[in-house]
Amino acid sequence: KARVYTFGNKTADGDSRMRNLLGGKGANLAEMSKIGIPVPPGFTITTEVCTEYNSLGMDATVGLLKNEVEAAVSGIEKTMGTQFGDNDNPLLLSVRSGARVSMPGMMDTVLNLGLNDEAVIGLAKRTRNERFAWDSYRRFIQMYAGVVLGMKPETKQDIDPFEEIIEHLKEKRGITMDTEFTVQDLQDLVYDFKDVVKKRSGLPFPTDPWEQLWGSIMAVFDSWNGDRAVYYRKMNGYPGDWGTAVNVQAMVYGNMGDNSGTGVCFTRDAGTGENLFNGEYLINAQGEDVVAGVRTPQQITQIGSKRWAELAQVEENDRINDFPSLEELMPSIYKELYSYQDTLEKHYNDMQDMEFTIQDGKLWILQTRNGKRTGAAMVKIAMDLLKEGMVNEQEALLMLDPNKLDELLHPIFDPNALKRAHVIAQGLPASPGAATGQLVFFADEAKKYKNSILTRIETSPEDVEGMNHAKGILTARGGMTSHAAVVARGMGKCCVSGAGALKINYKTRTLSVDGKEYHEGDWISLNGSTGNIIEGKVATIEPELSGEFAELMELSEKYTKMEVRTNADSPKDAKVARGFGAQGIGLTRTEHMFFEVDRIKAMREMILADTVKGRRMALEDLLPMQRADFEGIFEAMEGLPVTVRLLDPPLHEFVPHQLATQKELAEDLHISLSAVKNKVAELQEFNPMLGHRGCRLGNTYPEITEMQTRAIIEAALNLKEKGITAKPEIMVPLIGTFAEYEMQEDIIRSTAQQVFEERNDSIDFSVGTMIEIPRAALMADKIAEKAEFFSFGTNDLTQMTYGYSRDDASKFLPIYIEKGILPSDPFEVIDQDGVGQLVSMGTERGRKTKADLKVGICGEHGGEPSSVEFCHKNQMNYVSCSPFRVPIARIAAAQAAI
Ligand code: ADP
Ligand code: MG
Ligand code: MG
Repeated sequence: KARVYTFGNKTADGDSRMRNLLGGKGANLAEMSKIGIPVPPGFTITTEVCTEYNSLGMDATVGLLKNEVEAAVSGIEKTMGTQFGDNDNPLLLSVRSGARVSMPGMMDTVLNLGLNDEAVIGLAKRTRNERFAWDSYRRFIQMYAGVVLGMKPETKQDIDPFEEIIEHLKEKRGITMDTEFTVQDLQDLVYDFKDVVKKRSGLPFPTDPWEQLWGSIMAVFDSWNGDRAVYYRKMNGYPGDWGTAVNVQAMVYGNMGDNSGTGVCFTRDAGTGENLFNGEYLINAQGEDVVAGVRTPQQITQIGSKRWAELAQVEENDRINDFPSLEELMPSIYKELYSYQDTLEKHYNDMQDMEFTIQDGKLWILQTRNGKRTGAAMVKIAMDLLKEGMVNEQEALLMLDPNKLDELLHPIFDPNALKRAHVIAQGLPASPGAATGQLVFFADEAKKYKNSILTRIETSPEDVEGMNHAKGILTARGGMTSHAAVVARGMGKCCVSGAGALKINYKTRTLSVDGKEYHEGDWISLNGSTGNIIEGKVATIEPELSGEFAELMELSEKYTKMEVRTNADSPKDAKVARGFGAQGIGLTRTEHMFFEVDRIKAMREMILADTVKGRRMALEDLLPMQRADFEGIFEAMEGLPVTVRLLDPPLHEFVPHQLATQKELAEDLHISLSAVKNKVAELQEFNPMLGHRGCRLGNTYPEITEMQTRAIIEAALNLKEKGITAKPEIMVPLIGTFAEYEMQEDIIRSTAQQVFEERNDSIDFSVGTMIEIPRAALMADKIAEKAEFFSFGTNDLTQMTYGYSRDDASKFLPIYIEKGILPSDPFEVIDQDGVGQLVSMGTERGRKTKADLKVGICGEHGGEPSSVEFCHKNQMNYVSCSPFRVPIARIAAAQAAI
């Protein structure tokens, strides 16, 4: 079994299909090498070795790898004509992590490995570039100490000792940019850096290149279990046993002078999806300089450069002199880069995100991957690639991450409110959307407010958790490919980056612009689509959807097997969902309607009544209100089925629990306060979720079911008179036994019959039940003898199958997930193994009795992509979810069917 796969020189052992073994970066480096793209030669140590290392430890792993790694290094030496460990002509290496999915900035990279006090002199002589050699050396010490010797600060509040030395020297020399350091400065930095290492670790900086190499390889393996990587994995649901590969590669140098540089580029716009090659670069720079925002990066293309200058309000002359595009500055390199991006996009048939380095006029490609993008860009790119013939319809649909559609459906700033908005500064439109929140300056404080705007000079990977909590991200430094921008786009979070006018003071926790100061907790708004930073709160409105969005939705129809319905309790929600393509209502909860002020009184009267007669009188008052509700909903869903669930929650939820309201109620009903109190006490339950609720209400108080049925049927008849078709499906909740269902159905049917006779007219309706108690799933064959449809209420079914109270589970679920006892929250992602069995069994047994039994799902799971896929596999007729998740469910349903 090979543990090491080499690449370079237009050949490779691996290819892009081997991403599980070689990681995404390694697999793509191999692929690029094979198709003739210039990548520096190197080798990949497989992800399997990461797992071996985790159980065997360092020494045994080195033993396993030694021969293969030594052979691979000498392969690189041959190609490069340099020698690893040689002082006169040293080969320097980069050591890069790379898991099977890209985790930007989540793990660590070491560059310029192989340098020491002797080799730096050799390198300077060979390249006749002393400055470059010492610049590389100081970078190496800082990275190696940070990554391998663990000297990188844990949080942003802590001071990075190396950055501190750099800042100090810049101040002393009166310079602002790292390119202004002299050879002497760089030598001083190296000296001071080594000193810090010795003081902090107690050991001198390691001078043996092989020791450096093994140390770095193991550090990359270790970084797989570092806090940042673990958090990122959890956020995305990636398992820990995937491991990371290690890529060891010859260095190419972007810091050799003005004929060198480094950059990042995208084959299309990752924010909007526009088919426009774009990116950023820096002259005389290395590694993450572009992303870290140490200087203002320049644009790759002339168009991009002009757009940038317009936004940043830079004059054309200054732009050309100070920030020329690569296209203008190095036209032939630009042409070459353009042709590679074209080749790569056509090769991978997807938008690519690439990294490159120019060493003394020669272009090298260091990485390519399918680019992260916003929801809007995802939709546009999928549709464009389809129209360009690069992907077929199925592939276009499969390219979508359904959850990301969410971003498109959320509010943007109200243009009218924006007219009055006071724009205090402008940054780059790094990740679109609108965000309003309170200022915080530290990632670990983002949680302090419900809506926070994380504001930083720049962000770094340790800020990711805080960025996730924040509503928006604002940085003073860094371009469109800065860490903040890339991560925010991945999260679908609004971000404005590189707002140079902002002065951020971490000590005083203030942000000042043009002499005006804003403090932590002050409200601020960000427009991620224009880069505007606005004082105070700004009103938002619903977004308008693009043509491509509609086209993809329509396309999904062609492949999907399931219907997507919505859960809606009001005509407004129903209309929104219908606009998103909902094909009916899968769940209307009737109780929400009772909570309105004028109704709750009648409802309480009904509950407090001691006799059937008293209850009936109160229900008489409720009838017209319910009927009007149903008319509104049926009308909004004209021609489409609407499932109405009968009253479900325990009655005590409706009675007042505060003295003042109890007094009011007593007065209203002309009864004594103590009578009210007694009734409230009587309704108190130890386990309301397992108590007097669902069909147990309708079976003990049949008049409630009668009233609700009457309201439904009369509403449908009233609409019929107006020429509007209503298709009610009456759903009995919380069935556990056949008799419970049968009794409810009898009441429903006889009430309907009575109304038909009164009106001398009729409509079609059906009666069915929720399956949400495990016993109902077990008895499904019996229940299907009468029920015309099943709707799995997976919220209650999960609650009762696990025995986890939904309302109390938040105390232990997070800990369970953290400890790996549960893979995810079963109330969010359906538990296919356990709860799923009840769903499959219930469906199967039900259909054994009634082959054409209509089956759907109406829990929260109905809009969660993996659960939708599960429903498809179980041959459900429909899923039902909240209105804004309808598009997500539609795409997920189509993907499941492809
Ligand atoms: P990440 O996964 O965080 O993007 P990379 O492994 O891509 O980390 O490394 C970060 C940066 O280091 C790259 O963007 C590139 O600029 C630089 N780099 C990596 N390998 C080399 C190399 N062989 N030569 C020059 N620069 C390199
Ligand atoms: Mg990195
Ligand atoms: Mg990279």
